[in-house]
Amino acid sequence: MRDEEAVSEVPTQGTRCALCGHSLQEALVLHEEQRGDRLFLFRNVPAQVCSACGETWIAEGTLAEVDRLIQEGKPSEVVETMLFDLAASR
Ligand SMILES: [Zn+2]
Repeated sequence: MRDEEAVSEVPTQGTRCALCGHSLQEALVLHEEQRGDRLFLFRNVPAQVCSACGETWIAEGTLAEVDRLIQEGKPSEVVETMLFDLAASR
């Protein structure tokens, strides 16, 4: 179980961007995680997005869920991704 008191000391709502200090807005984002040479994509990830610099902040608990899904989750779909090698393109 999580210690709710400790969590409430760092409110995720109404906080400001740690990079530029502007306000954050809740949004659902596409998140990517790389593990070794494999790439995992996550759709509809709840996040706080900075209205000024666009930096995305994802709660620790959400990232733990992302980790869990990589370990034992069943993907909604498997997509083909294009990979470009800049060393080979010129
Ligand atoms: Zn910002």
